Amino acid sequence: MTRPVCVDIDLAAIRHNYLVCKQKAPNSRTFAVIKADAYGHGSLVVAQALADVADGFALLNIEDALRLRDAGITQPILLLEGPFDTAEVTAMSEYRLICAIHSDHQLDWLRHAPLPRPLEVWLKLNSGMNRLGFKPQRLPELLATLASLPAIMPTTVMTHFATADDARGIATQWPSFTAATRSCGLALSAANSAALFAYPECFADVVRPGLVLYGASPFDGQTGAELGLKPAMTLRADIIAVQELQTGDSVGYGSLFCAERPMRIGVVACGYADGYPRIVPTGTPVSVDGQPSRTIGRVSMDMLTVDLTELPLAGVGSRVELWGPNVPIEWVAAAAGTLAYELMCAITARVPRRLL
Ligand code: PLP
Repeated sequence: MTRPVCVDIDLAAIRHNYLVCKQKAPNSRTFAVIKADAYGHGSLVVAQALADVADGFALLNIEDALRLRDAGITQPILLLEGPFDTAEVTAMSEYRLICAIHSDHQLDWLRHAPLPRPLEVWLKLNSGMNRLGFKPQRLPELLATLASLPAIMPTTVMTHFATADDARGIATQWPSFTAATRSCGLALSAANSAALFAYPECFADVVRPGLVLYGASPFDGQTGAELGLKPAMTLRADIIAVQELQTGDSVGYGSLFCAERPMRIGVVACGYADGYPRIVPTGTPVSVDGQPSRTIGRVSMDMLTVDLTELPLAGVGSRVELWGPNVPIEWVAAAAGTLAYELMCAITARVPRRLL
């Protein structure tokens, strides 16, 4: 018997969500963003689940891209941060990966790397986020440089929004991007999840959704289900002990919770060492055997406690959903003062992943 904690990955939900994205932007290609191990869902299994529908994939590490190629994924694969050294440029050309270039040192690597095949290159412009990318006004000069490199094929100019979940990002970054790229003759790509669901004007030629593929909402106060998405990740664990509390009894480290009446609580086999956020307060929603309940006291390394007072049938062996279809991950993220992105990526290696 293994410790009863598990993360279920619903690949059919991811397919559904991908197709919702395709319907939103039917005239654009949709590259599924599967970086960070597909936001904790498993980049290879997600790519395989989307292999017959996806227009392309976007991720970070060449190692992950090569794993996809070795497993027979033939779609375009975009490396969002480009090469991290010259050798990677060569490998990208060999494995037909697409290289996003954001800085001059990467241009130097392109100049000097041996290229067994032509290499498709995207240029990344910094339209206001000030993280990665060339200044937009440099585009003509950059295109001239790339044109002088015979094995380099520039196809697309991309940018990334800092605040696509509200109107500001679009109002400032999109005009700067479109002004710079207007007559460049290449395809354009800008939209992440939030832009894909809120700003059709910036769909352009390639959209790059990540979060929404996994069923979560990029917007405050709104769940993925409210956007027509299906949650793909369920974190669940079983109750491994039950405690009866008297009025005045406290629970867990720091004795943060004190019972104001007799209560029954369940001890759940999931803690912050599994990736459940330690910071959430008492009252964070959970579901016990499909019934709504709440956390009690502080989350510890390997356990957390939930209220069973109103659930007389629940006990040892009851299944607790910490997030998933009954407990939107956005609710837990809000309780933790973070985003669904961080929770998905924080599941630790000791939690077994089960594919549905
Ligand atoms: N494009 C780029 C360059 C990114 O870095 C990311 C993720 O951070 C995405 C697209 C997808 O963003 P989201 O998960 O918000 O859709």
